[in-house]
Amino acid sequence: MSHPDPRNYQPAGDLLGGRVILVTGAGSGIGAAAARSFAAHGATVILLGRTTRKLEAVHDEIVAAGHPPPALAVIDLARAQGPAYFDLVAQIQSSYGRLDGLLHNAAILGERSPIEHYDVGTWHQVLHVNLTAAFVLSRELLPLLRAADDASVIFTSSSVGRRGRAYWGAYAVSKFGVEGLAQVLADETRDITRIRVNCINPGGTRTAMRRSAFPAEVPDARPEPASIMAPYLYLMGPDSRGFTGQSIDCQ
Ligand code: NAP
Repeated sequence: MSHPDPRNYQPAGDLLGGRVILVTGAGSGIGAAAARSFAAHGATVILLGRTTRKLEAVHDEIVAAGHPPPALAVIDLARAQGPAYFDLVAQIQSSYGRLDGLLHNAAILGERSPIEHYDVGTWHQVLHVNLTAAFVLSRELLPLLRAADDASVIFTSSSVGRRGRAYWGAYAVSKFGVEGLAQVLADETRDITRIRVNCINPGGTRTAMRRSAFPAEVPDARPEPASIMAPYLYLMGPDSRGFTGQSIDCQ
C-alpha cells in the first residue's frame, strides 16, 4: 500500500470521530496543539500532564470550541509509581473500554552541558521522564490499545535522537532510546495486532522547550505547534493503517 507524504496530509474534518486518544504533556506546547487538533477532528482526548491548571485551560478551550469534552489525567511522570498507572488504566477501561491512540509527547530538556560535567541526577530524571515513563505507559496501556480496531502509538523524537550533537547530553540519548523503543514495539506488534507504532520528529517549533534550548533565537523563526499537525493527524487516523515502524519529520 502506498502512503502520502504525511507533511502534506489533508485530513477529513471528522477524521478522528469516535476515537479516544491519550496525549502526554498536553498542557502546553506541541502536546496542547495536538490535543486541540485531535479534538477538532472529533476525538475524545485524555489530557495527561503534571500541571492541573494548564490541563484545565486546554480542556476549557476544547469544550468552548464545541468539541468532545476531554478527560484529565494529572500525573507527574517523574514521580508516578504503579498505582497512578493502574488508576489511569482502570479509568480508561471503565469509561471507554479501549484506547485508539497514544501520543507520547511529554519531555524535559535537562541541561545543555558537556558529558564531562553532566549532572548524574539530571541524567536520571531526563531518561526517566522522556524514555522510561513512555515505556511504562505503553506497557500498561497495551491491553487497551489491543482492544481498539486500529490503534496508533506515536513517540516523539528529535533530530538529536538520530545524530548525537555536543551538549545535548541525556536529552539526545533519551531520544535515541525513544527511537529504539518505537522500533522494538512496532516489530512486536506488526502482523499480530492492529496496533501501529511510529515516531515523529517535530523539528524546531515555537514552544517553551525551544526557547530554553535556544534563548537567543528570534521567537518567530520557528513555526507554531498548530502548523505542524498534519503528520500527527495522519498517524492518528485510519489512513495510516499498515504504516508502522517509521520515523518521520514534520518539517
Ligand atoms: P514543552 O513546551 O516544554 O512541553 C512539554 C510538555 O511536557 C509540557 O506540557 C510539560 O508539562 C510536560 N511534562 C514535562 N515533564 C513532565 C512530567 N514529569 N510529567 C508530565 N508531563 C510533563 O515542549 P515542546 O516543545 O512542546 O515538546 C513536545 C515534544 O516535542 C517533546 O517530546 C520534545 O522533546 C519534542 N521536540 C520538540 C522540539 C521543539 O523545537 N519544540 C523539537 C524536537 C522535539 P508542564 O508544562 O506542566 O511542565
